[in-house]
Amino acid sequence: MDAQKMTEKELEPVKVAVVGYGGMGKWHTNRLDKCEAVECAGIVDIKEDRKELARELGRRVYRDLDELLEDDEVKLVTVATPNHLHKELCIRLMEHGKNVICEKPVAMNSAELDEMIETANRCGVIFTVHQNRRWDKDFRIVKKLWEENTLGRIFRIESRTHGSRGIPGDWRNKKQYGGGMLMDWGVHLLDQLLLLLPQRIESVYAQMTNVTNEDCDDGFTAQLKFEGDLCVEVQVSTSNFIALPRWYVLGENGTALIQNFKLEGKIVMVSDWENRDAVPVNTAAGLTKTMAPRTSDTIQEYPLPEVESDILDYYRNMAKAVRGLEQPIVTHAQVKRVFRLMEAIIQSHETGEVVRDFDVPANK
Ligand code: NAD
Repeated sequence: MDAQKMTEKELEPVKVAVVGYGGMGKWHTNRLDKCEAVECAGIVDIKEDRKELARELGRRVYRDLDELLEDDEVKLVTVATPNHLHKELCIRLMEHGKNVICEKPVAMNSAELDEMIETANRCGVIFTVHQNRRWDKDFRIVKKLWEENTLGRIFRIESRTHGSRGIPGDWRNKKQYGGGMLMDWGVHLLDQLLLLLPQRIESVYAQMTNVTNEDCDDGFTAQLKFEGDLCVEVQVSTSNFIALPRWYVLGENGTALIQNFKLEGKIVMVSDWENRDAVPVNTAAGLTKTMAPRTSDTIQEYPLPEVESDILDYYRNMAKAVRGLEQPIVTHAQVKRVFRLMEAIIQSHETGEVVRDFDVPANK
């Protein structure tokens, strides 16, 4: 019977192996255990202590990548090694007929990514990226506000994440391993925004920082201008002992603030546009009405909307994709667009100039 005609329950779970059993590899195996559509077949790692840990936890540990490649039961492989190894490992897996999920950032640059996509097309396998922060509830709230036009025409979005311990001290602080905060957290924030905003990016101006780390960036700020006069600021920073809000979204009729990942925040809507009167505030230079806050009789405060999100939907989608029932949620066009933008951010930082004409369509 073909997969189209079988119910979800009748289908055997898709067997998935994980290459790289570090922090994220372990996260993947735990999620595979929780998702009915998939099953963890085993792991590959080069470090003895990680292999030992996997055995202790009852995982099958493949001798090496070759042994995994020979296991025909494994239909899908998740690659969760340091970034500089993604291209080589993914290409090897795809050339042996495996469908592949690669951790973010998928590659070191667009040229590597193009090679990986070309391999997937040539080998007729699925190749996609683990952009799991699309399931973060803070992002889902902004997406809902955008899609439901709650705030009126949105003219500015600020998306930030602020840490206070510098860049992590493992391979993430070395350029040669694909380190740096643009590649680490930036790729998530940019992926979220571009998913929301298919309209063309007209320009980007960016600065990267090296507060705690010489070799690669420990943060960046990028100003993006989209077609239709939408301005977006994206910031990742790791020396912030007072964190600014995770999201600040400005519409013509309302403002939304999401303070943090705990989803503290609120929406303030204007309830009476006509009433422009204000109680002035005093400054050293005199009174101002223009910059005085609105009085409570002209605004209405609301809680942030409730949103649903189940991270296991990522693997559910992939199980269907492997059977040819769905397209992977994270597409080649989307990851290419994010990489072009990250390269434009680096170019702007290095030249000190605004970068234009780099954007590629979101759906091709
Ligand atoms: P890590 O250093 O904790 O783990 C990497 C593991 O890969 C180590 O156990 C290492 O021994 C193993 N490894 C190295 N070379 C290998 C090889 N040739 N074959 C097999 N295994 C090999 O790093 P991490 O934090 O788990 O990050 C791994 C990947 O996951 C990175 O690409 C990172 O950006 C990504 N990541 C994604 C998220 C997310 O939310 N999507 C979060 C954290 C990390």
